[in-house]
Amino acid sequence: MIRYSRYLMPTTKETPSDAEVVSHRLMLRAGLLRKVASGIYNYMPAGLRVLRKVERILREEMDRAGAQEVLMPAVVPSELWKESGRWDAYGKELLRFKDRADREFCLGPTHEEVITDLVRREVRSYRQLPLTLYQIQDKFRDEIRPRFGLMRGREFFMKDAYSFDADEDGAAESYRKMYGAYCRIFRRMGLDFRAVEADTGNIGGSSSHEFMVIADSGEDAIVSCSSCAYGANVEKAECSPAEAATSPMGTGTAKEGAPRKVSTPGRRTIEEVSAFLAIDPATLIKTLLFETSVGDVAVLVSGPHEVNEVKVRNRLGAEWVRLAGEERVRELTGAPSGFAGPVGLSVRTIADHSVRGIRSGATGANEKDAHLVDVVPGRDFAPEEYVDLRMVRDGDACPRCGAPLRFSRGIEVGHVFRLGTKYSEAMRAVYLDESGKERVSVMGCYGIGVGRTAAAAIEQNHDDDGIVWPISIAPFEVAVIPVNVKHADLASAAERIAAELDTRGVEVFLDDREERPGIKFKDADLTGIPVRITLGEKNVAAGFGEIRDRKTGETLRIPLAELANAAIALVERKKAECAP
Ligand code: ATP
Ligand code: MG
Repeated sequence: MIRYSRYLMPTTKETPSDAEVVSHRLMLRAGLLRKVASGIYNYMPAGLRVLRKVERILREEMDRAGAQEVLMPAVVPSELWKESGRWDAYGKELLRFKDRADREFCLGPTHEEVITDLVRREVRSYRQLPLTLYQIQDKFRDEIRPRFGLMRGREFFMKDAYSFDADEDGAAESYRKMYGAYCRIFRRMGLDFRAVEADTGNIGGSSSHEFMVIADSGEDAIVSCSSCAYGANVEKAECSPAEAATSPMGTGTAKEGAPRKVSTPGRRTIEEVSAFLAIDPATLIKTLLFETSVGDVAVLVSGPHEVNEVKVRNRLGAEWVRLAGEERVRELTGAPSGFAGPVGLSVRTIADHSVRGIRSGATGANEKDAHLVDVVPGRDFAPEEYVDLRMVRDGDACPRCGAPLRFSRGIEVGHVFRLGTKYSEAMRAVYLDESGKERVSVMGCYGIGVGRTAAAAIEQNHDDDGIVWPISIAPFEVAVIPVNVKHADLASAAERIAAELDTRGVEVFLDDREERPGIKFKDADLTGIPVRITLGEKNVAAGFGEIRDRKTGETLRIPLAELANAAIALVERKKAECAP
């Protein structure tokens, strides 16, 4: 049993000014978290209890799925990262440093290299496969913009798991098992989540799913089909092949001859140009110039659409892509930005499907204040290829079934990857198969952010008064509040009931502070303990106490002798709501 009078849970009324999202605000106000530096925190006692509960669920479900827990170091020698090629590729999120002997290290942001090194040393035979190992460990990523408290920190706990299989079929099975474990994990935490197709980013590999907790404050936009099970991060969301083939943006008929130059003084944006020329924006060929790790590239898309940079990067097989700045645009096109076009442009050019169907279009003339009209793709310019390069839009057809796609926002709490042989090949993690032949093992990796998941739970479960914890990850299950501890009967009734609950295995938080009842109630609401027992003078004198459900606000008056039973029944009911 915890007594508030002796417990470090400093609640505050003020809303911290640098906390932009509700979970960050409430974690600070409820005394769960304190900042040390940007993206780096102290976990206070009650906050740590929440994280430990998340971790317990993670361990139970990893173990159930047959994974074995290990613990790898946070400090990782550069040699391993050089073997995989990520020492140079990973960028500034990787915190690098040297020891006294000038040897290079990094703080591990993820542990594919370390685990692959471990497994290549220990696994020799197909008999040792499949093997899935996991850890719950402190990660460091020097995020550009740490924010939202535990949601995007620099130092944070992650559960990361890695599977090794003899072949692709085995790897698919390991992936399926982890996917199933993830569904159980987030259900047990009482979260409304969706698994969506995702880009593989820095980690690499062939395919991946993100587990998204649905919340308006989420940093990720996701699309889901209104009819079938398709869901994807917008970064990844495919445009319907049928839509691409019919090119709904194509209009008009190709004119004979050549493009005509027209004056468009100061008109740069799609809106400005289409209004000025009185043309359908869908017939405008938007030309975006990118600097990439594989050279300069012009990307074409029809006027109303946006280019999806992740699709561009993946299509080019580039490590990075970024929109060219004003200066570079001038160098490449000879004109200020807003007037670029593919006609006569000597830059590698790829086009989105939406450009293919344009019969007679308009585009920048690579000259200040000028555009070209009567432009015919194929005749006046020829992109290297037409592929899917644009962002999907709300209402677009689902790439699987054709029904309209819908947008929502999500917080990525987990990510599962099919890695294939990216790391095992580079680092020679091999085993001998049944015929004694050496083979490369096939990998998967699976991450869940511990703190981010707790924060996401708050984003989804709070009201004006504070946190409404799902009971499975609440710091305590029952709060016992004697409204006046100086009143001997109330104090002793509270002690008795708290002790009984404690012996019966309930996590009890006894607010034995000499505070006004209003303050105690406010703190109980703020900290979100799911069940509250209130002992007031009149009720106790009459042999009663109150039970209140934090979530519904429903309050019951119960005889003192039955109070513990009633509280336990409510706890059990709440636990059942978090059943996998
Ligand atoms: P994001 O796109 O949000 O940066 P990521 O794709 O980099 O995430 P992964 O590399 O897949 O994330 O990491 C696995 C999990 O670790 C994520 O699903 C998330 O829950 C957690 N995580 C990643 N970065 C952070 C961070 N900066 N702070 C807290 N948790 C994080
Ligand atoms: Mg990241």
